[in-house]
Amino acid sequence: MGTQLQAEIPKVYSPHTIESRWARDWLEHKLYRASNDSVRPRFALAIPPPNITGSLHMGHMLEHTEIDILMRWHRMRGENVLWLPGTDHASIATQMIVERELGREALPQLEGRPEANGLWQREGQRLRLEMGPEKFIERCWTWKEANGDRIRRQMERLGASVDWSRQRFTMDPAYSRAVVEAFVRLYEQGLIYRGKYIINWCPRCGTAVSDLEVVHDTRPSHLWYIRYPFEDGSGHVTVATTRPETMLGDTAVAVNPADDRYSGAVGRRVVLPLLGRLIPVVADAAVDPEFGTGAVKVTPAHDANDYAIAERHGLPRIQVIDEQARMTPEAGPYKGLDRYKAREAVVQDLADQGLLEKTENYELSVGTCQRCRTVVEPLLSAQWFLKIAPLAEPAIRAVKDERIRITPDNYRKIYLDWMENIHDWCVSRQLWWGHRIPAWYCDDCGEVIVARDAPAECPKCKGARLRPESDVLDTWFSSALWPFATLGWPEKTDDLKRFYPNNLMIMGFDILFFWGARMIMMGLKFMDDVPFRELYIHALVRDAERQKMSKTKGNVLDPLEVTEKYGTDAVRFALAISAAPGTDIAFSEEKVEAYRAFANKIWNAGRFFLMTLQRLHDSAKGKLAAAFEPTPGLGFNAAAAPESLALADRWIFTRLLAVTREINEALAEYRFHEAAFTIYHFFWHEFCDWYVEWLKPEITRPVDGLRTPPAWINLTRAFEASLHLLHPFMPFITEELWHQLPRSGRDRSLSLTAFSLISERVADPVSENQFKLIQDLVVAVRNAKSEMGLQTQKPSAQIACEDLRIIELFRLHQESILRLAGLEALNFTQQSFSADTGGVRPVGAGVYLRLFHHQKLDTEAERVRLERDKGKIEHQMIQMEAQLKNEAFRSRAPQEVVRATEQRHAQLSEQHGKLIESLRRLASGA
Ligand SMILES: [Zn+2]
Ligand SMILES: [Zn+2]
Repeated sequence: MGTQLQAEIPKVYSPHTIESRWARDWLEHKLYRASNDSVRPRFALAIPPPNITGSLHMGHMLEHTEIDILMRWHRMRGENVLWLPGTDHASIATQMIVERELGREALPQLEGRPEANGLWQREGQRLRLEMGPEKFIERCWTWKEANGDRIRRQMERLGASVDWSRQRFTMDPAYSRAVVEAFVRLYEQGLIYRGKYIINWCPRCGTAVSDLEVVHDTRPSHLWYIRYPFEDGSGHVTVATTRPETMLGDTAVAVNPADDRYSGAVGRRVVLPLLGRLIPVVADAAVDPEFGTGAVKVTPAHDANDYAIAERHGLPRIQVIDEQARMTPEAGPYKGLDRYKAREAVVQDLADQGLLEKTENYELSVGTCQRCRTVVEPLLSAQWFLKIAPLAEPAIRAVKDERIRITPDNYRKIYLDWMENIHDWCVSRQLWWGHRIPAWYCDDCGEVIVARDAPAECPKCKGARLRPESDVLDTWFSSALWPFATLGWPEKTDDLKRFYPNNLMIMGFDILFFWGARMIMMGLKFMDDVPFRELYIHALVRDAERQKMSKTKGNVLDPLEVTEKYGTDAVRFALAISAAPGTDIAFSEEKVEAYRAFANKIWNAGRFFLMTLQRLHDSAKGKLAAAFEPTPGLGFNAAAAPESLALADRWIFTRLLAVTREINEALAEYRFHEAAFTIYHFFWHEFCDWYVEWLKPEITRPVDGLRTPPAWINLTRAFEASLHLLHPFMPFITEELWHQLPRSGRDRSLSLTAFSLISERVADPVSENQFKLIQDLVVAVRNAKSEMGLQTQKPSAQIACEDLRIIELFRLHQESILRLAGLEALNFTQQSFSADTGGVRPVGAGVYLRLFHHQKLDTEAERVRLERDKGKIEHQMIQMEAQLKNEAFRSRAPQEVVRATEQRHAQLSEQHGKLIESLRRLASGA
């Protein structure tokens, strides 16, 4: 808008109007597209890609707020910033949703019934098998086109400063090529193998799931003691088991070799009850003599430990449970029964035959499918595995050498512990939606071919009967490539050169192993460098009582609803000021409301500023604004020599310098809460409460002539600098106000304006000390007036101070002090007050204050008032002391709350001292 001032700034702050307007503007002008220049330092981060099935929740809101703050901050420091957005195809989640949709279309009559979802799911699964992979995958794409960009639209509305031109989807053709390339290379290097091993199988989802996708639940169950008779009829061995139905697949009984109780049994054979098979008793050091009777059954096809024992002793593996969790023909008479039905029948039959010795209650830890919570079945299954040890080793070293810094620090150890005990990764899934494993089986000679493109014939027997693998890859396999596949790998693109490694990754702890660790391994493998230099693990957002937000508890806050109600800026600020590293966030609407009040404060300050400027402008008949054109020597950037500025200007500039440094340091360490608190305190309690108040007479005075008063120039600079500092936290309101400022029209957006206004030359400790002396005096007068019940009056004050320079300072600024403190007159003395002078108050720095008032006080009423205030304060202090002594409070409450409580306690304690002093003075008649 150049030199024109806008006619009117709305009285009421209406975030909704402002935010949707700017969000659209930023999007339309492609403001956050990373540049191709290589001159400026770059700062890159790839978003943790939300699932296409997802909708924005509070966890995203926190994550995106933290990322956006840092991206805007770096951008305003003149860096070439890339925040790369995208989504994940979410193999299993998408497949389940599409299945349910199919079921729903087929059975619309179930709508509204509580069991509908389960039935739709089952029907959908049946329909999927009926329609076959090709049609089903087509259906998934249709679903994705229609629903997959919900989070994108939500992020657009929230103004996330991402580069939409570089958006990626994990199943884009180019990305899929990268996935195939990575798989083939790993296979060629012998790091991917196919084999039959015990894996976790979800019978409901019909797929293998990795260890990480298994959630452990504790459930009340039993320990069954079963007798296995010796073949010669001379007694029996009793084994204890939590899964009696699997005994049908036993191929041995095992004991610990050091267990004397069984030394005579090892090497003999027992009869497997119910089936009558003869099986050996073996000795294996893996058997825990403390568990049950010390003798255990060995079921190699249904237990990973038993599988290992069977390997060592050359035992057969008999599968008695199938992929639908039903008993196989190997289970003899139990064939076809569901696993739990089979359990009942087995236990009953054992009891009938007198082979069930006893049953004990037992707390059982069961593994369930993360996706559907069905109990997973350990099954022997042919799957594809990634050999992890050769990949883990460099990934451990990268973190130990601090080529990747993990914050908060405690996650470093958690990461290293996990990586040092990591197992091979089962990467195949029996699903249809996802990246199909690039393998083919030759039906003529049995050869397995892994290739980038479909082979025309078998390289071994030249046969043409090739069957493609139907399994797809674990979704996390493709997302492990995210930091480089999004930049065009395996091509050697400019983006890859420019933005890899990323500078930073921000994620929640829940995906550190699923994703974080795997990106580090893959990055080192394929790019020979870490995927990012820093990894910041953000906290969880909990409710006000620090309970986890969950639908069943009904305490979920929908970020979009809260945003709609209070504005994005308020929600962002409330999150940022709560986001101390390593501490979960207690979040509530009340908190957002509080920072909505802060946004109002900013709005009102901006409005006052602009309206006053408008009046000034009018009084100068429209010619004044020209004076705001950049003028060398007057601007903040130019940093006029401090001596030529007024004290308040020198003070606000030196404060701005200090605050900028504090914010920079805090953000560099991810202390979002401190950075937010610093700018909040500065803007409200220094800029508004002191600086603007100090300048009020000067800026509200009509001007004569066309010279802009210097106060205006400096105020404009300071206000603009405040908007700069606030912008990363509250991008919308700051953008709106900034565009209304004079001489801002040159730039497209505040967010692209390099923040370089702080020059070392404005550091000015002298002005800071001087201003502080005046502030202390004004506050002391205000307190004294309030304690004496003189708030509405204008008493006179006498100041005693031996330091002539301080007296001179007060004299020089007498007018401001009288106005801000609400005094009639001030007089000064270098003499100290004599010991018997009543009503003397220390101000600090050797300054003493005494108030004179004309009215005679009603002593008794005053005493009652002081006693009442004292009582109130004592009550509050007792409560706070109890809280501060409470270890649980100190350890669990966020640091900011504990700190605020301590500060408040110190304030109260000071007030309490003053009240006692006042009561003493009142009693002595002073
Ligand atoms: Zn499942
Ligand atoms: Zn062949």
